[in-house]
Amino acid sequence: METAAGHAASAIHNVELVRELREEATVRARQALHDDVTDLPNSRGLAETLQRPLFSGSRLAVLTIRIDSLREVNETLGRAMGDELLQQAASRLSPLTEAGWCAKTATDEFTIVVRGGYDEAQGMAEQVIQAFDAPVQCADVALAITAGIGIVLAPDHGRETEILLRRASLAASRSRVEGTKVTTWAADRDPYDPQRLAIAADLRDAIPAGELQVHFQPQVDIESGLVTGAEALVRWRHPRLGELRPDQFIAAAEYTGAIDALTEHVLSVAAHTCAGWREQGWDLDVSVNLSARNLANVTFADMVESILDETGLDPAALTLELTESSIMTEAEGAMNTLAAIHDLGVSLSIDDFGTGYSSLAHLRKLPVSEIKIDKSFVFDLTTSHSDEAIVRSMVDLGHHLGLTVVVEGVETVEVRRRLAEMGADRIQGYLLSRPMPVTAFEQWIADRPVRMAELSTSEAETSAADRIADRER
Ligand code: C2E
Ligand code: CA
Ligand code: CA
Repeated sequence: METAAGHAASAIHNVELVRELREEATVRARQALHDDVTDLPNSRGLAETLQRPLFSGSRLAVLTIRIDSLREVNETLGRAMGDELLQQAASRLSPLTEAGWCAKTATDEFTIVVRGGYDEAQGMAEQVIQAFDAPVQCADVALAITAGIGIVLAPDHGRETEILLRRASLAASRSRVEGTKVTTWAADRDPYDPQRLAIAADLRDAIPAGELQVHFQPQVDIESGLVTGAEALVRWRHPRLGELRPDQFIAAAEYTGAIDALTEHVLSVAAHTCAGWREQGWDLDVSVNLSARNLANVTFADMVESILDETGLDPAALTLELTESSIMTEAEGAMNTLAAIHDLGVSLSIDDFGTGYSSLAHLRKLPVSEIKIDKSFVFDLTTSHSDEAIVRSMVDLGHHLGLTVVVEGVETVEVRRRLAEMGADRIQGYLLSRPMPVTAFEQWIADRPVRMAELSTSEAETSAADRIADRER
């Protein structure tokens, strides 16, 4: 009897234990597929939901919404407030699509999936922007939600949730960097793209193998017509893929870190070539493009200095070009490097001027001596009133700040004439010449008026006279 009761009791106990274990397993399973804060599916949960439609080849648009304001809220108002912000964002987003198709895919990211292609994606992006229009009320504070949206399309951009999410997230980051609200993923801008990765791997050997070349595109003083210098532009003769343009490999070089070696190579060739020109009496300058990553490298200015030493190039003949965005993004370390470069006597130019968001106040603080107005404003200069007005005001602005104004992308005589009227200082573009290898550049220049080192003969005489005087002393 006792044993029977004992058995019964332990049987009941076992049943309870099993039930408890089952419940715990269900909770765990749910946790594994859900986000704690918002109770939405997480990326694994979303992957399960999407498995079947993706497998069957359904057209889906995946939108990743990066909440840019989260970090600030966490840092200034605390984590609890950040969580509240996310919960409220979740409750605005999840009604926009089918149940289970809105997920929280990273700390500061939501992902919404809709059926359809590009148009449906754009429509959903509009709805998301509207949903975040009004601020959310957390405790007593009204918080604005700012977000960048990245879009990928299945099956065009991928057939696996993991790849789709990674690409949508990358596109969302681009939105933030570029200040656009919505960005669609594009293979040619993705540093993780397989083709890019292959290129990135090859790039490491390209420099020692001598596959990187430097072409030169002339710059001319618009008033006198004298050639004043050239921009050095890198080219890659890839053994399998043929000649690659920088747009096809610079991003990969930045991503892998090969950009330091690349910049050093271009700089060294450019400085060496320019020093040679100057020895011939041509008073030419050379400009070299930098990447944001170069500025983050603490030894960068030392590298520039040693190249100047090796080649004997006058630092005043060298200009380093940086885009506005690269100066802005790496803000802290970048400022030190810029100052160190400036101290060497090397000039700095802001490339693609007008395409970034640098404020005038910020520009004034930089040791910059030149702006290069971006070619996108220049192509339609003579037909578009707004482009004409923009370029005119950039020329005035540059001069107002005491900067030299260079205009790139000059393709026609009319554009050159208009720029001359506006008072731009120097031009560069296909009207003069495309970028060319150094030998072609030197032939090109042979038939043209070149700025000459005016005092070279008398300087030579003086130094000869000095030497004689020194000997006689
Ligand atoms: P960028 O610095 O804006 O260089 C000017 C680009 O515009 C060059 O393209 C040049 O060939 C092109 N271009 C010049 N004049 C005209 C014109 O009249 N019409 C048109 N349609 N295009 C013109 P490229 O050589 O393909 O270089 C593309 C970009 O790659 C450069 O833009 C620069 O940002 C980057 N890059 C080039 N060389 C280097 C380098 O050595 N290092 C780094 N970090 N970036 C480089
Ligand atoms: Ca440039
Ligand atoms: Ca440019």
